[in-house]
Amino acid sequence: MTAWTVACSACERRADPAPLDALCQECGAPQLARYPVLENAADLREVWRNRPAGMWRYRELLPLRPGEEPVSLGEGGTPLLELPRLSERLGVRCLLKEEGGNPTGSFKDRGMSAAVTRAVHDGAPSFVLPSAGNAGVALAAYATRAGRPATVFVPDDTPDAVAARCQAYGADLRMVPGLISDCGRQAAAFAAETGAFDLSTLREPYRIEGKKTMGLEILEALDWRPPDAVVYPTGGGTGLIGTWKALTEAAALGWIEAPATRMYAVQAEGCAPVVRAWVAGDDRAAPWRDAHTAAWGLRVPSARGDALMLHALRASGGAGVTVSDEAMCEAAGRLGREDGTAVGIEGGAVVAGAEELVRRGDLRSGETVVLFNTGNLANYGWYTT
Ligand SMILES: *Cc1c(COP(=O)(O)O)cnc(C)c1O
Repeated sequence: MTAWTVACSACERRADPAPLDALCQECGAPQLARYPVLENAADLREVWRNRPAGMWRYRELLPLRPGEEPVSLGEGGTPLLELPRLSERLGVRCLLKEEGGNPTGSFKDRGMSAAVTRAVHDGAPSFVLPSAGNAGVALAAYATRAGRPATVFVPDDTPDAVAARCQAYGADLRMVPGLISDCGRQAAAFAAETGAFDLSTLREPYRIEGKKTMGLEILEALDWRPPDAVVYPTGGGTGLIGTWKALTEAAALGWIEAPATRMYAVQAEGCAPVVRAWVAGDDRAAPWRDAHTAAWGLRVPSARGDALMLHALRASGGAGVTVSDEAMCEAAGRLGREDGTAVGIEGGAVVAGAEELVRRGDLRSGETVVLFNTGNLANYGWYTT
């Protein structure tokens, strides 16, 4: 029995699930996994609850065949924390999905665990990735865990801390003059030359599957009563798309009503292609010129998942919002002083975004809102604006 199938997110063309490091051959859009288990609607919730914490407890909804072991470093199973002071100040019940405790300090670990697992079982000899930060660090760790070499292409202005962390996990780090798009071209050329598996965002369908488990964990923690809204710091969009996919699959299984949760994307004022497209009512996001923000995770001028993100915002009744770098840093600092949680700058962006959404009336008194802290403050060492 096939555990899952893969189809294009735009034209629905079916693809062979393995090995899969390509976009749709028909139309070039990203491909996504589909699970037949969704059709027989078995109630897995009790089974999951009795397994050890961590993202692989949801294995029936992950790309793992019976008998296969995941490549895991203990990712997932992160807390959903009440934020009493922020909640009181905003008049909205704010919960923090705290991803900073993942093995390499960010939610990127979930995606890499799923994607590296699948690729290794399908015979990938080595890995390559263009990255400006946490994804490269996560790949370095998971590739090493799987016993495969990883090559990470980063812009040559990448902070030393990131470069050092990639190397600490044994990756071959290549500095490229220019931007992340230049790194992408070099990574693709390297993959073609060496046979390395290219794990670029949404080039393969399984990093999304790992990110999806954040949504499943939130639902499980809330006893399958979906929050009114989630606010997400949006770069390449895998977390936003993955969380929406979790909600959609839980609705398909009849565990929640659909569409039950509004999705809000927060981007930086200096790089907001998705918010701009949302405001204009477009289905696709044009590349952002001269992208600049201190939040590296949000410095993604052009994303392969643009159509999927815009669909999630629209289908859920959510919205996009931008915040300044200054507002992100201030909000991150306030959260530390008020509620004792030290979030990364992208987490600060989410808090500042939620404050703005309350001012705009998008988040209403008494609602339950999940805010994502995607990375650990220690990944930065300091804030710069
Ligand atoms: C990658 C990253 C983001 C952006 O996530 P996407 O899912 O690509 O939109 C946000 N925050 C941090 C800390 C990141 O590393």
